[in-house]
Amino acid sequence: MPQLAPRMFKARPSSIMQVVEKTNKLKAEGKSIISFSIGVPNFLPAQHVYDAAHKAIDNDPGIYQPNRGTPALVKAFLTWLENEGLGGYTDKNVCAGIGAKDLLWKAMYAVLQPGDEVIIPTPYWTTYLDITDILEAKAVLLPCGPEQNYKLKPEQIAAAVTPKTKMILLNNPSNPTGMVYTPAEIDALAAELVKHDIWVLADDIYSRLMFDGLEYKHVTQSEPKLRDRTILLQSASKIYGMPGWRIGMLAAPEALATAIVNLNSNGITNLPHVCMEAAVAAYTGPQDFTFARRDEFAQKRDQVLAAMTTCKGVNCPKPQGAFYVFPDISCTFGKSHNGVTIHNDVDFCNLLLEHAGVAVVPGSAFGEPKAIRISYACKPADLAEGLKRWTDFFAALQ
Ligand code: PLP
Repeated sequence: MPQLAPRMFKARPSSIMQVVEKTNKLKAEGKSIISFSIGVPNFLPAQHVYDAAHKAIDNDPGIYQPNRGTPALVKAFLTWLENEGLGGYTDKNVCAGIGAKDLLWKAMYAVLQPGDEVIIPTPYWTTYLDITDILEAKAVLLPCGPEQNYKLKPEQIAAAVTPKTKMILLNNPSNPTGMVYTPAEIDALAAELVKHDIWVLADDIYSRLMFDGLEYKHVTQSEPKLRDRTILLQSASKIYGMPGWRIGMLAAPEALATAIVNLNSNGITNLPHVCMEAAVAAYTGPQDFTFARRDEFAQKRDQVLAAMTTCKGVNCPKPQGAFYVFPDISCTFGKSHNGVTIHNDVDFCNLLLEHAGVAVVPGSAFGEPKAIRISYACKPADLAEGLKRWTDFFAALQ
């Protein structure tokens, strides 16, 4: 067989999917498993989204669609941005993709050369590192541990930027930690970023899922000068319960948005028309549905935190967004469960899955091997049962 391109050997299978596969195997064997592993919201889109999709099928235009996205979708997203306090973009700044992941990939492909440095605050969403590696750029991982609430500090950026730095990846609220930058923290980061001529990729796809009355702020609101180098990433997946519809949206300087339109032209051509019509309904329709889901998530977050506080030695900074909790469980290393010793996060996850029937993701998948990720985007009954099993598991540690 002829060889694959060497860069393909940098592509790793997702460790989250490995947990999912193991979970499915145990379920198929008849074991009772509660899954806290996957980042999929436990709700379906609102009725008006389905109505728009049905209407789109009935009126199928039967032709290819614009590479950028339909004018209706671009307009809907621009209006949505304006309502978020992010007005001033035009249709030339916007492009749709097959989920935010597709746009992330294309944005990084559009700006990175092999050897360019990409600053990635750690813990990070796994895909950031994988795309960086596949593109043969160099990841510069900045440790942001629980002692700094998993948040990046401006002085870390100042110390990390070199002449080879091309991009920084920011994620707010964060997957995997659920942490949210306060407006003052965003101001401080923006004040540092504006000193450097580097691309800022701001992945804010969980921006509508922020709790405790925290106000959303984007770096370009703190420093409008950052507009000429910032790529804003959004998605209907998490906030409208539409992960399978694959709607990602991007707002960026015109040259970058045009580059992505060209990549769409030579790749996907367009998003499915039905999905785009559904996304227009999601972006322009009643928004109370999303805010009700947000409030449910906030309650679930509290439930998870309450369970964490009963586990002695677990250090769990309080997340204020998304649907993840990222406790530091390194206090369990060296302890054992049913005679099996826990040496690291992977052992912890395997034992928790096999002995307690609860699936969580090892923190090493996100660059922080002292922690694990709990996704609480599951049914309330599953959450209660899974947390009970978690607490019992901890109580049985020796
Ligand atoms: N960015 C972050 C931080 C995510 O957690 C995810 C999905 O889990 C994505 C981007 C990709 O989202 P999408 O479904 O729009 O591709």
